[in-house]
Amino acid sequence: MRVLILCEYDSHGIRLGSRSAIAFANTVAEQTRGSVECLLLGHSLVTVAQDAAAYAPVLVADHPALANPVADRYAKVIADVVTQRGFDLVVAAATTFAKDILPRASGLLGGAMASEVIGHEFRDGRLCFRRPLFAGSVVATVAVLGNPQIVTVRPSAYAPASARAERSVITNVAIAEASLPKKTEFEALQSKLSDRPDVTEARIVVSGGRAIKNSEDFERLVGGLADKLHAATGSSRALVDAGITPNAFQVGQTGKVVAPELYIALGISGAVQHLAGMKNSKTIVAINSDPDAPIFEVADYGLVGDVYELVPQWIAKLNEAM
Ligand SMILES: Cc1cc2nc3c(=O)[nH]c(=O)nc-3n(C[C@H](O)[C@H](O)[C@H](O)COP(=O)(O)OP(=O)(O)OC[C@H]3O[C@@H](n4cnc5c(N)ncnc54)[C@H](O)[C@@H]3O)c2cc1C
Repeated sequence: MRVLILCEYDSHGIRLGSRSAIAFANTVAEQTRGSVECLLLGHSLVTVAQDAAAYAPVLVADHPALANPVADRYAKVIADVVTQRGFDLVVAAATTFAKDILPRASGLLGGAMASEVIGHEFRDGRLCFRRPLFAGSVVATVAVLGNPQIVTVRPSAYAPASARAERSVITNVAIAEASLPKKTEFEALQSKLSDRPDVTEARIVVSGGRAIKNSEDFERLVGGLADKLHAATGSSRALVDAGITPNAFQVGQTGKVVAPELYIALGISGAVQHLAGMKNSKTIVAINSDPDAPIFEVADYGLVGDVYELVPQWIAKLNEAM
């Protein structure tokens, strides 16, 4: 199969999640004697294209009209690239970026899509995908009928591809600005700069739940512990709904799906919708004042107590140890 990977990047280069999508694409290409190419969309992409070339040949759609990720424009460019160059499979990491763009591209292409893929296998020569249903209660194996196939892959399911010493070829894709959709205009980007890692990419995640009463307490307890552990901060939806944490922090069925080495749940009950986003973490630590809280059923280490008492003690112990 000819596989195209829609890559996300930041100022450091290709994002970790996209490197997992590359790893998935590499195995599919190996198993089908196919090939893999990365696609970058944006503007001023010289540096990131060089970084991407350490993983696979790169197609670069570099144009001022693509400077911001406006989904209908990006979807059009992806659909054109797939049609003109004959790709069979389009892959991206299952992130909000891809969730916005790839279904549109799939619609334009008349393709068949599977989202949130966590594994794959071949059955009678046909590529099948494993994906969770009902908040992760069951895992379905599905074959998508149609061409091209479009897939988003959960980064936690595939170890990120490693950079190679040699660089692959970089090819520019011509963009006809007049052909790009203009119904959506980019207005502004509001983002809060943080030194903490992204919740989907961190080795350790410290998450707070409804036990945390306000933003100041969240920053002091959840943020304070996260900083000691070089961790990302996350939260349950209860805190997002209360306006205490931003949407980007939400872990769960309707938030981010994470599988870090260590997940620390502070005052989170463990509702099934929250568990859907973190139960595959390697080690789970929970602090909750209710000994019967469902979070203790998935926790490797549980502490019954008040987060307002225990977390400052934990931070103090870490300070002593440093
Ligand atoms: C369609 C749908 C999608 C959803 N998607 C998500 C999602 O993506 N992510 C998500 O998180 N939720 C999601 N939810 C909401 C979910 O059902 C729960 O309501 C939510 O996860 C509860 O958050 P919580 O554990 O912080 O709050 P609660 O369930 O209220 O739990 C708070 C916990 O804190 C403990 N506690 C209280 N005070 C203290 C203290 N001082 N010290 C220690 N412990 C204390 C309590 O014992 C309790 O266990 C979704 C719901 C629906 C219907």
